Amino acid sequence: MQTHDIRQRFLSHFERAGHTVVPSASLLLDDPNLLFVNAGMVPFKPYFLGEASAPYPRATSIQKCVRTGDIDEVGKTSRHNTFFQMAGNFSFGDYFKETAIKEAWSLLTTSQADGGFGFDPDRLWATVYHDDDETETLWREIAGLPEERIQRRGMADNYWSMTVPGPCGPCSEIYYDRGPEHGREGGPIVDEDRFLEIWNLVFMQNIRGEGPAKEGYPILGELPAKNIDTGLGIERVAYLLQGVDNVYETDLVRPVIAKAEELSGRRYGADETADVRFRVIADHARSGVMLIADGVTPGNEARGYVLRRLLRRIVRSARLLGVKEPVLGEFTSVVRDVMSPAYPELTTDYERIESVMRTEENAFLATLTSGSKIFDLAATATRDSGAVVLPGDKAFQLHDTYGFPIDLTLEMAAEQGLSVDEEGFRSLMAEQRARAKSAAASRRTGHGDKSVYRDLLDQGATEFVGYERLESESVVR
Ligand code: ATP
Ligand code: MG
Ligand code: MG
Ligand code: MG
Repeated sequence: MQTHDIRQRFLSHFERAGHTVVPSASLLLDDPNLLFVNAGMVPFKPYFLGEASAPYPRATSIQKCVRTGDIDEVGKTSRHNTFFQMAGNFSFGDYFKETAIKEAWSLLTTSQADGGFGFDPDRLWATVYHDDDETETLWREIAGLPEERIQRRGMADNYWSMTVPGPCGPCSEIYYDRGPEHGREGGPIVDEDRFLEIWNLVFMQNIRGEGPAKEGYPILGELPAKNIDTGLGIERVAYLLQGVDNVYETDLVRPVIAKAEELSGRRYGADETADVRFRVIADHARSGVMLIADGVTPGNEARGYVLRRLLRRIVRSARLLGVKEPVLGEFTSVVRDVMSPAYPELTTDYERIESVMRTEENAFLATLTSGSKIFDLAATATRDSGAVVLPGDKAFQLHDTYGFPIDLTLEMAAEQGLSVDEEGFRSLMAEQRARAKSAAASRRTGHGDKSVYRDLLDQGATEFVGYERLESESVVR
């Protein structure tokens, strides 16, 4: 079943069940806690909080999402994209748990001939929040799930929240068992690769306070109403229904791998290290195109830096596969061809998107060779001195003079068995930023306030992990 069909079936199913179909919002909504929209509920947040009244009691959407926090998983797990499409159904104080479970179960298990996804019900598992007896009972009654296929989990896994005070609630996730050839018995708690998470049903009912997501945070009270917020990964459903091995081999991602095979003359599937690079290229190319389409341009701060990182990683990965020519323009047209039926702006805005891509690639290629030489010299010197940590000033020089994002330096160092003095790097970055700020202050003429993202950066977000933390805490893991 093609991705387009999966999207259509989802929306039609919920439209039939009385939901208003709402188009995806931009990846760039103004939310002080998020660089990018990373879940389907983000555009609806004011309705959950009661800050605005929802124009419809039920909605359904397929929201573009970017999760930079998942970047290190890309190409290595079978299931993490940086850009993906989250299908969701939402109830704003209308239906609650029972209908949410009924509708999800019906879409998943109704035969394909009758408009559903046709999953084998015997392969589906559910998790519930550890004290949520009601949901466990509903899974038994509605879906007939036996006790051993309903697992209980604590706050870190089964309580959705954002990083700061905001809507939150217990959740129940649905997993698909890919079979014993893919891992261990025992359900998602034991093996999340064999048991693929496909859908998260969040019972949005509380307000969270300050505190770390992982260790638990205070619940301040109740939302004005009990709501439903669900998220189903379209790419993950495609991965299962297309009989492929991971999200990168699905119909909207695999063509970029094919293009990389063509350009490199190498074959995907022959060597694991190369395969990770193929998958990284395919994933990042799509994310890059979607981010540029929504207005991000490569830069050294916040969103622009995320984009730069993705694009430069593609270029380097392609080089490592042996491609000598520029690649970003090539990949951009492949992404457009597969994605434009759902995202026509990729066609109408193509020239601009491609030109941003090419400009960034040229800028990087101009310094990649000389930067790589500097890196090699520094790596050799480090090893010769018997050390295993590359000095922070080298990482800074690579960033500042050669445009190497820190994660690129980290990746290159790791390939040589070295680590990097990230703290030293960060303090040099902070010094530089302070200099730039005071220079800017003396020139300032009262432009719009971009301080939100600058603040993110000042918290150390030039290091990619900074974004990761901001983001990963805002989603249920
Ligand atoms: P995982 O545990 O696999 O990282 P998650 O628990 O972080 O997923 P949720 O925040 O619950 O994911 O998001 C809802 C759904 O969105 C998931 O059930 C999954 O189908 C999909 N999804 C989440 N992250 C990704 C991703 N990086 N790439 C593709 N699909 C994703
Ligand atoms: Mg989840
Ligand atoms: Mg999870
Ligand atoms: Mg996750």
